[in-house]
Amino acid sequence: VNQLTKKFGGFTAVNGISFEVKRGEIVGLIGPNGSGKSTTFNVLAGLYAPTAGTVTFDGQSVGGLPPYQMCQRRLARTFQIPRPFRSMTVLENLMVPLAYVCGISGHKAEEEAMRILTGMGLANKAQVLSGSLSQVELRKMELARAVAAKPKLLVSDEAMAGLAGAEIDEVLELLFELNKMGITIIMIEHIMHAVMKFSQRLVCLDAGKIICQGDPQTIISNPEV
Ligand code: ADP
Ligand code: MG
Repeated sequence: VNQLTKKFGGFTAVNGISFEVKRGEIVGLIGPNGSGKSTTFNVLAGLYAPTAGTVTFDGQSVGGLPPYQMCQRRLARTFQIPRPFRSMTVLENLMVPLAYVCGISGHKAEEEAMRILTGMGLANKAQVLSGSLSQVELRKMELARAVAAKPKLLVSDEAMAGLAGAEIDEVLELLFELNKMGITIIMIEHIMHAVMKFSQRLVCLDAGKIICQGDPQTIISNPEV
């Protein structure tokens, strides 16, 4: 991301930020509410075109491409407020990206979806409507659905919001597993112990600007942070 700016009318939500994420890395994006974290993700995922600046993904300039094209280029995201296809079962939620992004359908897609759900501890929920899942199950299903798109990069917006204690650790463990499978991850997270444990590197935003970036220990001892 180079000199990225995103304005909403006269308001500048993201103000000329630059950062890099290497293949295989796990990077945490932190900052107070309203500092531009989700807006940055929304630009990466193609929901908003940059007002200025560039986004390069896997060697190609992608700024302004729509979400479906970013997904097909293997950037998957999860939402701060989960957005399942509520009238579909958990299994069907995964079959959408399997069909659309990976071109797998029918019995093969079901098998692959079950394999992913088993890895996420959700196999017993496969036939349940996603709208009836608990909060932690919903968070896991969002991750499972992102994984079904076979991403190179996963951008995860507050995957642990609304969870408590052991549930946070469960989701954190899943994210570690996904990284071990080779998925690069950028994660927005307010739960500091989680983001500190998870990230190799942190990028800290405030009022739309990066105030510092580096390894977690350096960042956390910065008084401005
Ligand atoms: P964060 O995720 O860091 O809490 P956001 O990126 O969601 O912050 O928001 C950054 C700022 O941009 C906030 O002041 C928010 O109100 C504003 N904002 C976000 N999305 C929009 C939008 N679609 N239209 C207008 N303002 C927006
Ligand atoms: Mg946000």
